[in-house]
Amino acid sequence: MADKPSSPIEYACARCGGIAVTRDAWAEWNVARQRWALCEVFDFAFCHQCARETRLIERPAGGAPPPPDPTP
Ligand SMILES: [Zn+2]
Repeated sequence: MADKPSSPIEYACARCGGIAVTRDAWAEWNVARQRWALCEVFDFAFCHQCARETRLIERPAGGAPPPPDPTP
């Protein structure tokens, strides 16, 4: 496993770079919380901009460049 990123990330379409992407998942009804809870996320990814299956890339949220090195 890679180190947990310290800044927020986002997932984008590898084809168009858009973030209108979704994953296939199962939601399970939680009686105690009275809401649907995500219980499984699958590899299948779909880009709503390309309107087709895609591959997701992980990048810093907002397309922002990585934080600068902490220099004294
Ligand atoms: Zn796309």
